[in-house]
Amino acid sequence: MTRIVFRNANLVDGENPARPGVTVIVDGERIDGVYDRAVPEPGPGDRVIDLAGRTLMPGLFSCHFHTTFHELAPGEAPALQILHSPATYTLLAARNLRTALECGVTGIVCSSAPYGIDAALKQGLGEGWITGPRMLGGSHELMATNDIAAGVSRNYWLGLGNQGLVRTADGADAFRSLVREEIRDGADVVKISASGGHNAGPTEDLVNLMPDELEAVVDAAHSRGRLVRAHAASRAAVLACAKTGVDLIDHADRMDEECIEVILEKDATVVPSLLYILRVLDFMGGDQIQAMVSPGVRPMFEKTLQSMREDSAYLTDFLPRVEEAGVRIVCGDDFGTTFLPHGEYAQELEFYVKHVGMAPIDVVRWATRNGAQAMGRGDDLGTVEVGKLADLLVVDGDPLTDIGCLQDRERLHGVILGGEFAVDRLSRSSEA
Ligand SMILES: [Zn+2]
Repeated sequence: MTRIVFRNANLVDGENPARPGVTVIVDGERIDGVYDRAVPEPGPGDRVIDLAGRTLMPGLFSCHFHTTFHELAPGEAPALQILHSPATYTLLAARNLRTALECGVTGIVCSSAPYGIDAALKQGLGEGWITGPRMLGGSHELMATNDIAAGVSRNYWLGLGNQGLVRTADGADAFRSLVREEIRDGADVVKISASGGHNAGPTEDLVNLMPDELEAVVDAAHSRGRLVRAHAASRAAVLACAKTGVDLIDHADRMDEECIEVILEKDATVVPSLLYILRVLDFMGGDQIQAMVSPGVRPMFEKTLQSMREDSAYLTDFLPRVEEAGVRIVCGDDFGTTFLPHGEYAQELEFYVKHVGMAPIDVVRWATRNGAQAMGRGDDLGTVEVGKLADLLVVDGDPLTDIGCLQDRERLHGVILGGEFAVDRLSRSSEA
């Protein structure tokens, strides 16, 4: 198989500061060599590419990925995924996977999807019917009856029952059996709703599942080698989920020092996904939208907006402390919603640098090394190291000095997945 020799790279390896003038050799699907000097001569048939200082870095991971979300309006999430047929959602999802890969996302950990679509997508990727990132597929969103997230948009008189994205249950046995069904249907990551907040109604300091229900979910998933993730915005929910062994804590808006302690002890991952909230507030806080809200729902609307404002301000302030404490934070957000279309993944990285004040190198680690670890593949993916799989990006720019450069598809000169080019804008002139 042809080797690829990348010469003169600005290496951003997913862990360390940038190193200029590096040569990286890819042999088959893996990284075979990383050289600062004493570069071996290329062999006959090697594809030699002079990067002329462009950045070579690991592919991005998006760890809260809804494959089937498409122009989803805020507040509709739990009831949604009943607007189109499963067949239509599958087509949209296949398109979204392709978009992600073309944007440099080479790994996704899915949040929730209906109809076993994620399992079908994985099959399609494995068979080569479609193209997209490596993925862990999601489950339905499992909720207790009278979950606030269901109450916001899944009004009981509609009689929706267990349709679309949501499945509800009550009691440990019922939750255990739902988890087993989701795994039977192909889920790698089981999603539960553990609290309101983060645009699922206001955040009250509550946990939506009883302790035995939470334990049943975690035990049933872990005993079959699957992960659990939870929508957990309230402090009580973050703490309960972390203590019980939930692997990915989504949003974590109200986490505090005690939460940090338990998260570190349990080695859980936090997915803040704050960009979505900022986008919602930008739009929903506008006068025009306010005027359109009918008087009947105005109190709940106002309360939710207020909660989002306070929670996002709180987490924006607290997030640097979470990073400093050594918690594994990852990127990933509700792309596919009205305000955050698929394709804008890299805007999230810039948001954490410019709005939250994180160092670019930290955010790059969230999106590469940490993402691979959250996926359970830290040994094989997420950094540019000899022996790892060659999931790589060639970027015209340096994300450690200009994080925004990742957003421009024209500056993404190469996307390599397992040693094969998915995007190849490297002109022949850069080849020796
Ligand atoms: Zn989500």
